[in-house]
Amino acid sequence: MQDDAARQLIHHPYRAPAGFDALQPPVHRASTVLFENVAAMRARDWRRRDGYTYGLHGTPTTFVLEERIAALQGGRHCVLAPSGLAAITLVGQALLAPGDEVLLPSNVYGPSLEFARHELARWGIRHRHYDPLDAAGFEALLGEHSKLIWLEAAGSVTMEFPDLTGLVAAARRHGVCTALDDTWGAGLAFKAFDLGVEIVVQALTKYPSGGGDVLMGSVTTREDALHERIKRTHMHLGLGVAGNDAELVLRSLPSLPLRYRAQDAAAREVARWLQARPEVARVLHPAFEGSPGHAYWRALCTDAAGLFSVLFDERCPAAQVDRFVDALRLFRIGYSWAGATSLVMPYELSALRPGTALRGHLVRFAIGLEEPHTLCADLAQALAAAFGQEL
Ligand SMILES: *Cc1c(COP(=O)(O)O)cnc(C)c1O
Repeated sequence: MQDDAARQLIHHPYRAPAGFDALQPPVHRASTVLFENVAAMRARDWRRRDGYTYGLHGTPTTFVLEERIAALQGGRHCVLAPSGLAAITLVGQALLAPGDEVLLPSNVYGPSLEFARHELARWGIRHRHYDPLDAAGFEALLGEHSKLIWLEAAGSVTMEFPDLTGLVAAARRHGVCTALDDTWGAGLAFKAFDLGVEIVVQALTKYPSGGGDVLMGSVTTREDALHERIKRTHMHLGLGVAGNDAELVLRSLPSLPLRYRAQDAAAREVARWLQARPEVARVLHPAFEGSPGHAYWRALCTDAAGLFSVLFDERCPAAQVDRFVDALRLFRIGYSWAGATSLVMPYELSALRPGTALRGHLVRFAIGLEEPHTLCADLAQALAAAFGQEL
């Protein structure tokens, strides 16, 4: 890890009320917040955190979580959204206007693309794709209408690690705002703000929750004006999170660095095991030599999320790959990641990434907290069940 994230997450600045010295902040649930008198009500300003106005705009519980996510990301301000996707769409709605253009990496998180295609397009906002490994080609796309650039490190299915430094430098030369989806890095693998990124979004649903039982997102910023713009749109859209959900994330935060490291180590072990198997044509993991963008990963990170994909030879029938996935017992079929249970998901490359140079049938693995050798044993029996003695 690049910093003292573990210390910061465990020794946060929360102070319990006098005479009640507990480590966990209490859960506040409120729509109505009472004011002492009319003057106090009129003096309250939703933009400031020295007072509360209405439950939708924040409670002491959600404010504590916002402060801790801001600290984790190395930012100064944070707003919470009801899902990671809501955090992404909030940024678009706060920053874009008709006639503007947003640039998305070619391996963008699918629902983020759907938002651009079906919602932004209706408001006269265009989107274009760029290759996250080609900063020069990206810079050539930037024009006067470019207003927002989404970055993802690494791509969450095809696992390319982008040329973050080159992309951000190009965006800054053109004065275009950059927003990074840091769900993979979880604020631990690298420090996006130190690279010059202006907005950092995270699906707290994944690593910070770690339980597979909460949906939440965060939008973190450093600049006051940018934060205020996002906070204002957040309020206009009525995005709030429940105190109980915030509590679940607060409870999991102190173990985040430990879980991240454990899942990273286990994922590399399982990925190495798969790489040696004759049925597997290629392993996509940013920390692996030969994986797209590996040099960019190595320049910025030593850690990685517990996520990787494998490609089965394109000549092997798709139904055989499905049989392999169905035969797995410990790995469960499901979306999302960073929980205790290892997950698996097959993806159709031609539908997911039209025009990609990658070939074969892609299966993504999200490693949980099981012992890696038990996961490898499960993979071995499923490979045998699906591929038999053919290889
Ligand atoms: C899961 C995910 C999201 C969305 O988070 P939800 O809380 O499921 O809406 C966004 N970006 C990435 C990279 C993700 O993996």
